[in-house]
Amino acid sequence: MDLKSLIRDIPDFPKPGIMFRDITTLLRNPQGLSYTIDSLAEKCSAMSPDYIVGMESRGFIFGTPLAYKMGVGFVPVRKPGKLPGEVYFAEYELEYGVDRLEMHQDAMTPGSRVLVVDDLIATGGTAAATAKLLEQAGCELVGFAFVIELQALGGRQKLPDVPIVTLVEY
Ligand code: IMP
Repeated sequence: MDLKSLIRDIPDFPKPGIMFRDITTLLRNPQGLSYTIDSLAEKCSAMSPDYIVGMESRGFIFGTPLAYKMGVGFVPVRKPGKLPGEVYFAEYELEYGVDRLEMHQDAMTPGSRVLVVDDLIATGGTAAATAKLLEQAGCELVGFAFVIELQALGGRQKLPDVPIVTLVEY
């Protein structure tokens, strides 16, 4: 299936000069949605994760059905101040300033095998920060899965040396 044809390009969003890859047009398409989840599950099955970790907010959209399909649990990584329990946090650079991601300390037992899922990898900052959270939790990172990779931004160079699955590249 040609997933790229279901992804809408919106120029100058959220800022002039940025080409935004909009996945809402993929999500609303029933064949596109099931093909996306089925393909990720097939390509990630050899990683044998115990959990899928997804980042707020589009990582939730793909990570949860993927966890259901693979028969494992889902753990959310959230923006600051959203999780009610004790959290680990990791900071990452934005164009101006820093942001932070948080994960519940008791979400997974140490040694759990974890697959990290997001809609898109650009600079890799979000995914690299998530890897740091897993390190703090003593989990074993077994791979990353992204629906979209923006290759020119070189995000995968920022990630630990584990398998990276992507479905659509620009
Ligand atoms: P990174 O941290 O630079 O790799 O950016 C990845 C994060 O930014 C992901 O969580 C994406 O949801 C979001 N993002 C960046 N660019 C786009 C885009 O063109 N479309 C959708 N999401 C994007």
